[in-house]
Amino acid sequence: MSPRRAACGVAALLALAACRGGDPMQRARDEMVDKQIAGRGVRDARLLAAMRRVPRHLFLPPSEAARAYEDRTIPIGDGQSISQPYVAAFMTEQLRLTGGEKVLEIGTGSGYEAALLAALAGKVYSVEIRPELAKSAEERLRTLGVSNVEVRAADGYQGWPEAAPFDGIIVTAAPERIPPPLLSQLAVGGRMVIPVGGFYQELKVIERTPDGYLERSVLPVRFVPLANPSELAPPRAPATPTVR
Ligand code: SAH
Repeated sequence: MSPRRAACGVAALLALAACRGGDPMQRARDEMVDKQIAGRGVRDARLLAAMRRVPRHLFLPPSEAARAYEDRTIPIGDGQSISQPYVAAFMTEQLRLTGGEKVLEIGTGSGYEAALLAALAGKVYSVEIRPELAKSAEERLRTLGVSNVEVRAADGYQGWPEAAPFDGIIVTAAPERIPPPLLSQLAVGGRMVIPVGGFYQELKVIERTPDGYLERSVLPVRFVPLANPSELAPPRAPATPTVR
């Protein structure tokens, strides 16, 4: 077996995607990174390398895969969408990951952002409120050989208290206000990136210092709202009328 084939045989996501000759989407992915990501000022070399490797098209419904590397958000089913590549990159860069960190993601969606984080941090905890999306993202990550992500189907407003504190928290659905449980689960020295607002939203970066929290707005954005579990509860069966 040639060394290249042997390397490909490892078959983990990143090794698989590194088999450049074997991935027909590699050129589209490189172009996406050059034009949309590096071209707009993202500098983190590890992040750029991860975005060249992670096969974004495999995180989309087959009908959308051909458009995976376009400069836009794409529907992933259930009324939800995967962020535009640049927004995912910009948000991830704000976390300033250097490797080994423990990161919390709220809004697993397709699992694409979780796969990027998995390549940049030590361990990723990702919470998704829609059980079908959580299940398919988990299966997808497993199939691609990503082993350092845990997915939980739950309300991300509450964070993941048992695994806290987190060095980084990234929220990919917008609450009206920053959820207090997420603030308290951020480690001192850690950073959270979160869209906040209703129709008009601001992407905020929050740093926890020994004395408190430093907050700044970095970009106007448009994300799906952070859902409240009561909005997603299946409609109750009509109560049986009482006959007197
Ligand atoms: N990061 C995702 C895209 C996220 S889209 C990706 O890379 O594909 C936003 C996701 O947040 C949706 O999947 C939506 O179901 C989820 N979401 C919305 N409200 C939530 C909540 N309260 N807790 C956890 N996830 C939530």
